Amino acid sequence: MSTRVSTNLLGSELRHERIFRFMVDSVRDYAIFLLTPEGIVATWNPGAERLKHYTADEIIGQHFSVFYPEKDILAGKPEYELKGATEVGRFEDEGWRIRKDGSRFWANVVITRILDERGKLIGFGKITRDLTERRAAEQRYRMLVDSVQDYSIFSLDATGYVTSWNSGAQRIKQYAAEEIIGKHFSTFYTPQDIEAGMPERVLRTATETGHYEGEGWRVRKDGTRFWSSIVVTPILDEDARLVGFSKVTRDITDRKKLLEELQRHSEELELQVAERERTNAELEAFSYSVSHDLRAPLRAIEGFASALREDCGSKLDPAAHEYLQQIMNASTRMNRLVRDLLEYGRLGRVELSMQSIRVSQLAEKLLRENYSGEKVVVQGDSWLAVLAHEPTLTQMLLNLISNGLKFQKPDTAPRVEIAITRGDEGMVRIAVADNGIGILPQHLGKLFRVFERLHGVEEYPGTGIGLAIVKRGSERMGGRCGAESKEGEGSTFWVELPEAKAK
Ligand code: ADP
Repeated sequence: MSTRVSTNLLGSELRHERIFRFMVDSVRDYAIFLLTPEGIVATWNPGAERLKHYTADEIIGQHFSVFYPEKDILAGKPEYELKGATEVGRFEDEGWRIRKDGSRFWANVVITRILDERGKLIGFGKITRDLTERRAAEQRYRMLVDSVQDYSIFSLDATGYVTSWNSGAQRIKQYAAEEIIGKHFSTFYTPQDIEAGMPERVLRTATETGHYEGEGWRVRKDGTRFWSSIVVTPILDEDARLVGFSKVTRDITDRKKLLEELQRHSEELELQVAERERTNAELEAFSYSVSHDLRAPLRAIEGFASALREDCGSKLDPAAHEYLQQIMNASTRMNRLVRDLLEYGRLGRVELSMQSIRVSQLAEKLLRENYSGEKVVVQGDSWLAVLAHEPTLTQMLLNLISNGLKFQKPDTAPRVEIAITRGDEGMVRIAVADNGIGILPQHLGKLFRVFERLHGVEEYPGTGIGLAIVKRGSERMGGRCGAESKEGEGSTFWVELPEAKAK
């Protein structure tokens, strides 16, 4: 490549040369000038003056090496470039150049050989551009990319070979830039993915859609794997031709592990819950059928015991009568246990039809039917109504009232107060307080479990199921229950149920 002119350009006065000179003189962004074959500046344009600060008078006649840093001059760079242009026709270079005031600028330089008609070298054309700004911007960008540690950011050429590499990439994938630049990016994929054509698919998708995003296993230099999230974007030139790809990869192994751990944990929990539900259901069914089946032999025991007393009572001595009484007491107790257990089991299964119930009305009715005298009183808002299943609520109140009367101090007249108030938001609180023996705080929590009792049957009779029914009943009706007490100073058992909205 070279420029041929029809005359000796350096001395000619032809018209087209004047036009050409006029054009060159109007260019301000490029330094355009001619050198003699020896490298002496022969012409100078305003662009050259603007870039290098010399006026035409100052520079014409000087060797062009004045534009080079001393180091380059010592290394023979000016001569080397002219030699290159002489031999190949054109020499292009980027590097630091020096202005008249000694300041530097980053230049793109193109030197073109000029031959006359006979092919004899008559000089060089030199075009210089100031790329300081662009270089600074590129450097800023490179520094930015390089300072990113958490992301591997690198570029590929159009066929997938690595062309740049940041420190994040080195950190994540363990290759140094010089080890990986020039290698194909499929190096980072697992053999299975390579076989399945994954790397090609990634580049194809990015090219076709302008974007590729995905997650998958990638391989580090030492062969270990990490779970990565990647984004690939095609890089196009001004003519929209594909020149390469930029690829951003993040190591999200920890996040993936955490998610998997969570997933496993929740699956385990689900299994446990299912297992527990199954066991509960089996237990319920079992206890129901056992309780049911126990009733027939129980009736036989009771029946034959009373037959024995009635028919053969005169033949039995007092000790036999005492044993008989023990048998009858035990079977009565067993009967109660079975009845309460059945009731408790039933409460877990049946559908409860809910209705609006005025609590004080229900309580008064219970008292009239079950307790005479003044020992139980009802207080509070007589209009408060709950949404409840009447038979269950009745059973719960009876259990609480009978406990309040039962667990009494020997020397105190029993007294139970039922207080009906508004509880937590949207709830009605029914509190049953007594003046009885009270409960140690550490025992309060467990009393609502089936068969939990703090006393022997001889001391206070009972089955240990009453409070379990209160708990299950309140929960099934969308409420809750609890107890407060001080030993020796009475107890308060409470139930909260959803308030029934006035019609
Ligand atoms: P039961 O009354 O048949 O024993 P519950 O489930 O109703 O069974 O009560 C469980 C236990 O809680 C009782 O045995 C008793 O020890 C304790 N308890 C219940 N209510 C009271 C109360 N009002 N005062 C003191 N202790 C109580």
